[in-house]
Amino acid sequence: MRGVIMHAPGDVRVEERENPVIVEPTDAIIKLAASCICGSDLWPYRGADDVDGAPMGHEYVGVVTEIGADVTTVKPGDFVVGSFMASDNTCEICRAGYQSRCVHVVPMGSVGTQAEYARIPHADGTLVATPGRPDEDLIPSLLAASDVLGTGWFAAVAAEAGPGKTVAVVGDGAVGLLGVLAAKQLGAERIIAMSRHADRQELARRFGATDIVEERGDEGVAKIKELTDGLGAHSVIEAVGTQESMMQAIRSTRHGGHVGFVGVSHDVELPGQELFGSMVHLHGGPAPVRQYLPELIQLIWDRTIDPGAVFDLTLPLDQAAEGYRAMDERRATKVLLTV
Ligand SMILES: [Zn+2]
Repeated sequence: MRGVIMHAPGDVRVEERENPVIVEPTDAIIKLAASCICGSDLWPYRGADDVDGAPMGHEYVGVVTEIGADVTTVKPGDFVVGSFMASDNTCEICRAGYQSRCVHVVPMGSVGTQAEYARIPHADGTLVATPGRPDEDLIPSLLAASDVLGTGWFAAVAAEAGPGKTVAVVGDGAVGLLGVLAAKQLGAERIIAMSRHADRQELARRFGATDIVEERGDEGVAKIKELTDGLGAHSVIEAVGTQESMMQAIRSTRHGGHVGFVGVSHDVELPGQELFGSMVHLHGGPAPVRQYLPELIQLIWDRTIDPGAVFDLTLPLDQAAEGYRAMDERRATKVLLTV
């Protein structure tokens, strides 16, 4: 089969890889219906993470082709969605709703789902079958549920977005935009998207943003305060992962408010004294997408939400390198790869 390999920063190639096989009796093999490139794939692409011949990709939807002897909840022919973290969904951490930190977790990035086929560990715990074979136009939205939608959703839940709340969103990538969508679905009264790109502002508004703030850093914080009677937002979603974005999120939050942070943290150091004085709740990390999948699949199936709108470039798998370039150069928000 063909699959994406990153040999070094900036060096992405589509190569012939071994077809995956069942290794553990709890595994399933899927044929991908589509794959995509994640904003977090840009960290190694830009040299911020080590990379040396690694298979790439952790988002996936597709059809089960084979199951191990112990798999009972999905069968060949089922169309399935899974999280970017495979989990047993039975351990104490999973049952508490933190499947992304399952005691048996397998990061799907180690499998590499920018490929034609993928082995899914803990298939019973990880995969959720859709009610039937989806219409073609639902596939991008179902693929978004695998990571960016589930991550934006967790960020909104962690930030306690809900009725009567003002939510600010730091980051206008796919996760930030879908954090806006999640905040809207959760009933937030006012949603402030922080973005300086016209096309992303437009999508943010379509997803439910009521206000746009173009300023960043201290100026962005001042603007959020200005819009909230000097108090700051009740709920702030952080969807970037840098020192600047994290501090922008914390400083935009009112005392007693909540920050949901899901941008993969890179060299972020929190100043203790400022944090002490801020009196904000911090909750974040790799999103337990599996917890939300049944609900998100249903919302997509019923066409209540359209998270697939974040894909603004579609390329065949063979042109993955161009997809990485387009996202790196910000010519695309999120790239869908057809397989
Ligand atoms: Zn578990």
